[in-house]
Amino acid sequence: MNREKTHWNFDNSYQVLPKILFKNQTPTPVKSPELIVMNGSLAETLGLSVEHLQSEEGINVFVGNQIPENSVPIAQAYAGHQFGHFAMLGDGRAVLLGEQITPDNRRYDIQLKGSGRTPFSRGGDGRAALGPMLREYIISEAMHGLGIPTTRSLAVVTTGEPVYRETILPGAVLTRVASSHIRVGTFQYAANWGSRDVLQNLADYTIDRHYPEFENQDNRYLTFLRRVIERQAKLISKWQLVGFIHGVMNTDNMTVSGETIDYGPCAFMDQYDPATVFSSIDREGRYAYGNQPSIGAWNLARFAEALLPLLNENQEKAIEIAEGEIAQYFTIYNQYWLAGMRAKLGIMNEEPDDEALVNDLLQLMQEYKSDYTNTFRSFTLDKLEGEKMFSKEEFKKWYKRWQERLSRQKEPKEEVLKSMRNHNPAIIPRNHQVEEALNAAVEKGDMSVMNVFLDALAKPYSYTKEQEKYCQLPTPSNQPYQTFCGT
Ligand code: AMP
Ligand code: MG
Repeated sequence: MNREKTHWNFDNSYQVLPKILFKNQTPTPVKSPELIVMNGSLAETLGLSVEHLQSEEGINVFVGNQIPENSVPIAQAYAGHQFGHFAMLGDGRAVLLGEQITPDNRRYDIQLKGSGRTPFSRGGDGRAALGPMLREYIISEAMHGLGIPTTRSLAVVTTGEPVYRETILPGAVLTRVASSHIRVGTFQYAANWGSRDVLQNLADYTIDRHYPEFENQDNRYLTFLRRVIERQAKLISKWQLVGFIHGVMNTDNMTVSGETIDYGPCAFMDQYDPATVFSSIDREGRYAYGNQPSIGAWNLARFAEALLPLLNENQEKAIEIAEGEIAQYFTIYNQYWLAGMRAKLGIMNEEPDDEALVNDLLQLMQEYKSDYTNTFRSFTLDKLEGEKMFSKEEFKKWYKRWQERLSRQKEPKEEVLKSMRNHNPAIIPRNHQVEEALNAAVEKGDMSVMNVFLDALAKPYSYTKEQEKYCQLPTPSNQPYQTFCGT
């Protein structure tokens, strides 16, 4: 085997940027690392040998006890609006080991999350608990399976050390893989605490890394803003289409690459209701399911603000340009969302009334508390079973309208149903199932529940028999499901 290709192959291009954007920081060693879960297929795409990663040396790297060759670990500086309030943040419990260059020449950030204190830790201990790190692992990999851009999870290793939260919990480090960790908040930081040069350097670097196709354009910062808006509009439309609620859409948790990042209090919606909130700290529903598209616009407006000095020398002119771009967001978002909804309903062409058809369905689903995923799954299986709504007259009328709509396109029913399978997941990581997997893993040290679940979540559109158990809803409870920030 070629040793070069099966081991870490780090570059540290972020460190050519002005020093204000990061601090050199090694992870804090831990007592007794133990590998809990590792993502073999992701390891292979990164050009890493699974066997090597599972060795003592491999595990020591995952937990920060050993620094691989050519890794120069840093903590990245960033700011962010948290629930609307601006603050200086930065990697308070994470370090970037470097950028892994894969055999096919792609570049991925490799970050250890929960690796100890950094200059940005403020009051925090720099650590993470096993449960939340496994939760991020499950949900991020499920998102990847769903075809939604996201950071990935390579491994979770326990530290053998306790972390002190409301209770004492086992500590763990998650190895996170991302096309980069550059956030809207990174630009806000550069705009607030750096010079114009710092901001321009960061923008040029980000364009080179994520948007190289227009690097040499005259108005490249404007194109940059436009493309970030476009990618975020697309990303958030994908969240809405599968019922994903991020839970903490602060500007530091929004990437410039268009990947979903920071799986803290996120969760999938069961019953369709735009007001759905799971996060215990989101008391006003700022980040409710139905608010996500407009929060996207709000965050992108903060991004545009940070870019103002690069958009035009004249500030008023720059503001005018930025506002013009942000104004496009909802149109772009709505196009993606409607195209996605048409696909979910097997609609292959466009008619002006399609949006009303979709909205009328959603209204019925809300009224009759229909399960979001299972409703579309029923449509895809062409079996109207399991939802109270299906027996209602109003729904029958709607259904007839939908069938008539389908009959006005040329594709035969078989083809329509086949296409719907690719757009309606048979399964999502339902909260009670996630809890069950985490409970077995954390309380009993039994990884089998999570591993079987992960296998199913990797192919959510495959509609296999084995997946059927994951379509079951939780037993009704008076206690609404609540999530907590993954600290
Ligand atoms: P998050 O809620 O995970 O997006 O984190 C928001 C900010 O708090 C980031 O700057 C984190 O690095 C920091 N943070 C979260 N938990 C901890 C912790 N246990 N120790 C230090 N910093 C933390
Ligand atoms: Mg964060």
